[in-house]
Amino acid sequence: MTNPTGIYIDGRWLAGGSEIDNINPSDISDVIGRYGQATGDQLDEALAAARKAQPLWWAAGVQKRHDVLMAIGNELMARAEEIGRIVSREEGKPLAEGKGEVYRAGQFFTYFAAEALRLHGDLAESVRPGIEIDVRREPVGVVAIVSPWNFPVATPAWKIAPALAFGNAVVWKPANLTPASAVALTEIIAKQDIPAGVFNLVTGPGRAVGQRLVESAGVDAISFTGSVPVGRGIAAAAVANMTKVQMEMGSKNPMLVMDDADLELAVAHATNAAFGGTGQKCTAASRLIVHEKIHDAFVEKLVAAAKALKVGHALEDGTQIGPVVSDTQLSQNLDYVQAGKAEGAELLCGGERLNRSTEGYFMSPAVFVGTRNDMRINREEMFAPITCVIKAGSYAEALSIANDSEFGLTAGIMTRSLSRASHFRANMRAGCVMVNLPTAGTDYHVPFGGRGASSFGPREQGRYAAEFYTTVKTAYVAAGAPE
Ligand code: NDP
Repeated sequence: MTNPTGIYIDGRWLAGGSEIDNINPSDISDVIGRYGQATGDQLDEALAAARKAQPLWWAAGVQKRHDVLMAIGNELMARAEEIGRIVSREEGKPLAEGKGEVYRAGQFFTYFAAEALRLHGDLAESVRPGIEIDVRREPVGVVAIVSPWNFPVATPAWKIAPALAFGNAVVWKPANLTPASAVALTEIIAKQDIPAGVFNLVTGPGRAVGQRLVESAGVDAISFTGSVPVGRGIAAAAVANMTKVQMEMGSKNPMLVMDDADLELAVAHATNAAFGGTGQKCTAASRLIVHEKIHDAFVEKLVAAAKALKVGHALEDGTQIGPVVSDTQLSQNLDYVQAGKAEGAELLCGGERLNRSTEGYFMSPAVFVGTRNDMRINREEMFAPITCVIKAGSYAEALSIANDSEFGLTAGIMTRSLSRASHFRANMRAGCVMVNLPTAGTDYHVPFGGRGASSFGPREQGRYAAEFYTTVKTAYVAAGAPE
């Protein structure tokens, strides 16, 4: 067996056609390792192995699937610190967040272990006498999973766990920026007593391995998290093959701060939601829509909070904001800072590359004020530690600005008014609404997803995940009279 390199097919670790260096964004002199890049032939092998293994896995039954998922989840939780360190080293989030992410990934597995036991169906009376009807859920078949780098263990976990729980086989293409996290998760899955080929890892470039995977007729369902442009391409490929598809993409999550809000709490939640994970979360609060009566006081405290955040090496004690994930992402962020200024927004703090004792992609958290909702910085997902304040004259105006976006993943309101909170919950066009909470931060046992360009297809997580990872069969049985 070759050492784990990023490619695991049909129960074996394989060397790839080529290799890439995995670089620590907190310290670019730290090469974490070299990881294999799957070839087209290896991808085809993975798909064939998955096709062969899937019926065996379904036949293994619910107790077996429960036990395997429970073992994976328990190991992830027990090793959260060790694997969290890998996540922090290659993605750049502070260690507490890396550890928290791996623990959460474990919870997805233990939750779906129990869901494997709850694959209940329905019984119905037929309108025709002598016929019995039952409705059962069956696996979709071979599921392709394409995941991003920002949550390199939790996002694949919330896809792989339900896929396996409901009897599917998996071919996983992780982000090329975070192969070490993918290998760590795969090693835990690989040590389980499961049929070879049920789970396969094919690391490689999105435009080659990812594209070939989503365009393959050997795939029954595709679950993707990432950018809108890639998502559009995947949707087109899925339609061409009539493949079931589910996608979570970007957003421009608004947080309304009303004049009756608890100011300190609003600042704390806005700071956390805008800059946590270096702003590289699909749930980040990137549009802060603030009532004019509280605007100046809020902005003053927000800027002070942003300036006080400690930006540094992800594994250093006390770091609150790690580096941006890559050179490309950092350049894109700095371009957005320039674009904001060019459009007339006022930069009150941050938005600059920072030097630290190690060479990394550090950037100071940025706050723009005087922004309009039609500016690029308020329309496009930046995935950066940049947040934009928009002033509104009333709750109604704030809601209308919040809803004026092609996206609709999460949205929040800070208010002490029950009527505003209730109205917001009912009238905000988003998949998740938060009252007096940050826009980022969700539970693992309830659905997650959005509207508009943020999501496509059935929801992820919670018991709603069964919609995507199973297909329904309606059986009509005429048993006849006993002899
Ligand atoms: P991408 O959408 O490019 O990447 C997400 C995943 O898709 C990765 O595994 C990637 O592989 C893969 N991929 C890329 N191209 C294709 C393709 N043609 N067919 C199939 N799979 C493909 O996002 P990036 O990582 O490049 O980030 C770019 C921007 O996307 C960010 O700045 C951010 O705005 C947004 N984004 C949003 C996320 C979210 O959760 N909403 C998560 C990540 C990014 P590879 O890594 O090899 O390129």
